[in-house]
Amino acid sequence: MAGEPQDDCLFCKIVAGHIPATIVRETDTTIAFQDINPQAPTHILVIPRLHHRDIATLAAAAPSVAADVLREAGEVAAQEKLESYRVVFNTGSGAGQTVWHAHAHVLGGRGLQWPPG
Ligand code: C5P
Repeated sequence: MAGEPQDDCLFCKIVAGHIPATIVRETDTTIAFQDINPQAPTHILVIPRLHHRDIATLAAAAPSVAADVLREAGEVAAQEKLESYRVVFNTGSGAGQTVWHAHAHVLGGRGLQWPPG
């Protein structure tokens, strides 16, 4: 069922505490943790506790939680003292999405190219 934890979802397992993660912030609706394969000096993922396959699906089903993810991305950047940073939602395999549980990447701590690859 939409929004329910999925047995085969890595990030649902992190939400449940079944897979370890280095958590940097938590709210009632979100968790932020260090990416295990960082692409910048600061690379943190913000995920909703609810399972939805991508940000568009989350925003349609639970817009207030999608807003929480965005707000937490900003809170993470402030906590990490990032003056400039990028928030990325890879959506679809062609855009690099590999985990099918909505997540924001918060990247910073170095210059970031535009356009991205
Ligand atoms: O946007 P995409 O779906 O590719 O992002 C998934 C991210 O989840 C990757 O950056 C990957 O390094 C990260 N990851 C993680 N911890 C895991 C598995 C994946 O931080 N246990």
